[in-house]
Amino acid sequence: MTDRLEGKPVAEEINAASRGAIREVSGRPPPSLVSVHRGVDSPFRFYLRRQGKAAEAVGVTFRDEALAPGAGPQDLEARMRTLDRDPSVHAVLLEHPLPAPFDFYRAIATLRPEKDVDGVGAQNLGRLVAQRPVHVPAVALAAVAIARHYRLPLSGERVAVVGRSETVGLPLALLLAGKSTGVNATVTLLHSQTRDLAASLAGARTIFSCVGRPGLLTRSVVPKDAHVVDVGLSSVPDPSRPGVQVAAGDADSASLDGWAASLTPVPGGVGPVTVAQLMASAVAAWKWIGRAGSET
Ligand code: NAP
Repeated sequence: MTDRLEGKPVAEEINAASRGAIREVSGRPPPSLVSVHRGVDSPFRFYLRRQGKAAEAVGVTFRDEALAPGAGPQDLEARMRTLDRDPSVHAVLLEHPLPAPFDFYRAIATLRPEKDVDGVGAQNLGRLVAQRPVHVPAVALAAVAIARHYRLPLSGERVAVVGRSETVGLPLALLLAGKSTGVNATVTLLHSQTRDLAASLAGARTIFSCVGRPGLLTRSVVPKDAHVVDVGLSSVPDPSRPGVQVAAGDADSASLDGWAASLTPVPGGVGPVTVAQLMASAVAAWKWIGRAGSET
């Protein structure tokens, strides 16, 4: 029997802590989060509704800002600088990835690290490497939060992270291996050039998959009784409803059922925890920015 590791109770715990942190501070306007994106054509619009609902659930003020049609990289950077200077804005999210000619890293670099709420700018990623994190990508925090909530084997254990992108797999591997985070796992990092997935996963007690390839993880590559945290999120045709797309993770749940010790579902696993974690980071930004002159 493979345990199903639902994200909802983990998200609820994180949201309760965020609400409590807001209640503790009186006499200030609530945290404010702004999500910047390219507008109607952007696939990012799908996430805005979720962000808005999650913000409302914890008491964060949320708004999205679309770039004007035809706006270019300089317009985006000017908009970001304005948000960075605006004392009523505590946290800013920028659509990622951005198509050329936009330069995501140049645009996000206009924000001070405390406002780069998803921790994806070079300063925040560097702080994570230096074990002095400000913000860490919410998805990486969410994957660790789920694993900790369900007490999956981490500390001192062999774990594997499949996928090494700078916004998902790499920060997750750093959190898992980190001394300052207290996780202290022994981490193997896999990617598209890994020659033999099964051989590299052998011996891993917990596997975090951050690829975006449905069906990648089957019982032929996952060790028996391993725990799987499925971060992958893809859109696939629903076989029972022609023309309808549904969310799918990297794990082949039918193949892993009765083989893996546990598995996070997609949807309903890492996704809801990620958005809760993002709101928790917005609350942290609000607290830091409210303490003018403080060192984060
Ligand atoms: P990405 O930038 O496309 O990176 C994918 C990574 O997977 C790369 O490191 C790539 O290796 C590796 N990879 C590709 N094929 C592989 C294979 N056959 N075997 C092993 N590794 C392989 O994607 P991302 O932005 O990191 O996102 C990863 C997944 O997480 C996506 O499905 C995304 O939708 C999902 N995600 C979910 C959430 C959530 O809240 N649930 C949030 C963010 C992202 P190379 O480096 O060699 O190319």
